[in-house]
Amino acid sequence: MRWSRYYIPTLKEDPADAEVISHKLLLRAGMIRKLTAGIYTYLPLALRCLQKISQIIREEMERFGAVEILMPGVQPAELWKQSGRWDAYGKELLRFKDRHDRDYCLGPTHEEVVTNLIKGEVKSYRQLPLNLYQIQTKFRDEIRPRFGLMRGREFIMKDGYSFDKDDKGAISSYENMYEAYKSIFTRLGLKFRAVEADTGQIGGTYSHEFMVLADTGEDTIVVCEECDYAANLEKAEVLYNEVEQRKIDCPPLEEVNTPNKHTVEEVAKFLNIFPHKIVKTLLYNIDGKVVAILIRGDRELNEVKLKNKLKATEVRLATKEEVEKYSGAPVGFAGPVGLNIEEIYADQELQFDTDYVIGANKKDTHFIHCDLKRDVNIKDYYDLRNITVDDNCPKCGGKISLTKGIEVGHIFKLGTKYSKAMGATFLDENGKEKPLVMGCYGIGVSRVLAACIEQNHDENGIIFPLPIAPFECLLIVLNPKDNKVLDAANKLYVELKKSRIDCLYDDRDERPGFKFKDADLIGVPIQIIIGAKGLAKGVAEIKIRRTGEKIEVPLSECIKSVI
Ligand code: ATP
Ligand code: MG
Ligand code: MG
Ligand code: MG
Repeated sequence: MRWSRYYIPTLKEDPADAEVISHKLLLRAGMIRKLTAGIYTYLPLALRCLQKISQIIREEMERFGAVEILMPGVQPAELWKQSGRWDAYGKELLRFKDRHDRDYCLGPTHEEVVTNLIKGEVKSYRQLPLNLYQIQTKFRDEIRPRFGLMRGREFIMKDGYSFDKDDKGAISSYENMYEAYKSIFTRLGLKFRAVEADTGQIGGTYSHEFMVLADTGEDTIVVCEECDYAANLEKAEVLYNEVEQRKIDCPPLEEVNTPNKHTVEEVAKFLNIFPHKIVKTLLYNIDGKVVAILIRGDRELNEVKLKNKLKATEVRLATKEEVEKYSGAPVGFAGPVGLNIEEIYADQELQFDTDYVIGANKKDTHFIHCDLKRDVNIKDYYDLRNITVDDNCPKCGGKISLTKGIEVGHIFKLGTKYSKAMGATFLDENGKEKPLVMGCYGIGVSRVLAACIEQNHDENGIIFPLPIAPFECLLIVLNPKDNKVLDAANKLYVELKKSRIDCLYDDRDERPGFKFKDADLIGVPIQIIIGAKGLAKGVAEIKIRRTGEKIEVPLSECIKSVI
């Protein structure tokens, strides 16, 4: 591919509205352009990366017995009503009507469609197990699309679904996909961890998330330093209680008056308080009602816990006045990028300054930090993230640490939730009708590209691992006006193509410095540079993007050294 005829609109400056490095570099390297919030066009380089990622996914899915199909993006409400998710899914589901006034949605996931597809067609245990997958565009009307491809509204997902005749089969399908995912992310050249996870919105019995380890990740994960235990934050709640009790000189929570006489320690336990999350929950008896006031987020989680366990009759976030009164400190907020405390507190007219309170968010929940006796600033917050404790890994009692991750894949054992709700049954060996036992398996294909850049870059640009790189090598001709040089480069380009090396050829009539900058920015792993000086010696220069290492290679040996 000749750069002069290709489309790579690189940018010199950092785009103003990009907060994380992958978003900045995807824009600067001319790989994506925004159409509107959370919706992007993939330009040629990004498309090539996505195709490479997809190809590896396809190969591994098929190696592990899954079969590719392609389902529609538009889904009728009817199916979602059958599964019960039309009401349950909330605003992330983009709904609309057709000209006949019938309800539809844009698919955020395809459990309903695939169950409907199988229903009635798979009739006998002899047709099982079955595992179908697709690579397809999803739409989720995320409350805060951000970080470019990391959290889009329209994004590409590989989603797969397994159908088994019994639980044993479903577990084996799940384990099979677990192995497939490990191969996929290993082949993609990413540093990742599989962690135990919550089943959330999709439902089901158990699940694992595949996390690409990166500081900019929105998820916090607990990793045991001694065994293979790893879990995400919700799953590892128990650990945090321990961490907090050991590490934090937490000021005493106020004694409260509840009908069930819960101790302050109990309250703290329920709230899985830990250092950067804390703060305090106050229970009051107001007009005969037990009111729990949270001075932190994770509101939904805590509302349920408090209501159930403490029998609080009302749970709400504290007002600014209450926070100030009980904490004895002025209130302000700070936090890592993406924080949207303002939105939550919009109706409370809070002042936002950064000195006293830290907020952080995990997914779309929020917690705030208020200064009780000690200040917690952003630096402490980051220090605390690397907190280690002496023991309590639940599996081996070894040391655990906290780290940040980007969720790139998620596997669930669904059980019979969808098959029962939608009547997807089969006849077993004894002619008995039974619901199919299901599993579902997602990979954020476009998020993988962003996560890969978060893990692989330097101050000059992207450093693609070979399996994801848009091209294997970049041939750069310096001063193409010099016919001798141009001829030599053209010749090499033809040879590279003949040898089936995936090569981009920078034949543009631009200054060398300009071309070198672009070359580093787009991150192709190997650069082959042809210039007048080298040519006089009969050599080309080969530069390894990751190490910056440069070697001179005789022109005739170029291809051999690239292969
Ligand atoms: P998140 O916790 O980041 O919102 P999720 O748990 O809602 O993700 P799943 O329903 O598990 O996502 O979907 C499977 C995969 O799709 C995720 O593991 C992730 O890689 C990808 N994904 C989900 N939402 C988005 C998004 N808004 N933009 C890009 N990729 C996404
Ligand atoms: Mg989500
Ligand atoms: Mg998630
Ligand atoms: Mg998930």
